[in-house]
Amino acid sequence: MSGEAQVGGCLCGAVRFRVELPTLFCGHCHCSMCRRSHGAGFVTWFAVPRASFGLETGEGELTRFRSSEHGTRSFCRRCGSSLFCESTHYPDVVDITLASMQGPIDREPASHIYFDDRAGWIIVNDGLPRLGGATGTEPVREE
Ligand SMILES: [Zn+2]
Ligand SMILES: [Zn+2]
Repeated sequence: MSGEAQVGGCLCGAVRFRVELPTLFCGHCHCSMCRRSHGAGFVTWFAVPRASFGLETGEGELTRFRSSEHGTRSFCRRCGSSLFCESTHYPDVVDITLASMQGPIDREPASHIYFDDRAGWIIVNDGLPRLGGATGTEPVREE
């Protein structure tokens, strides 16, 4: 890794990682799996090429949970922080929770994905594109 890097980690500090910028994507995910696994209304993810991601410490504390036929979510088994999501559909990409980063990355969240799956108690009025459908990334018709 040679470019500008940022570090992140879990709540207890056992898992620490490093990402090299630039990132590929940043957005808010409203899917029910994110909601349940994080205990949150929605989850803000960013994505980097796998080659730009490096685990610094905590490989032994990282637990991987197969959350769907193609998706694996990773969390720290000591403190429970949800950190990464990987999909066999995009093997060269790692999704990382923006909230686990120590500092800013190179972009702001740019969309709401799986917006049609959102919790009824989440009010969104930031003007960002609202995407959904089968892939979570198709334009959603406003009700
Ligand atoms: Zn931890
Ligand atoms: Zn999601």
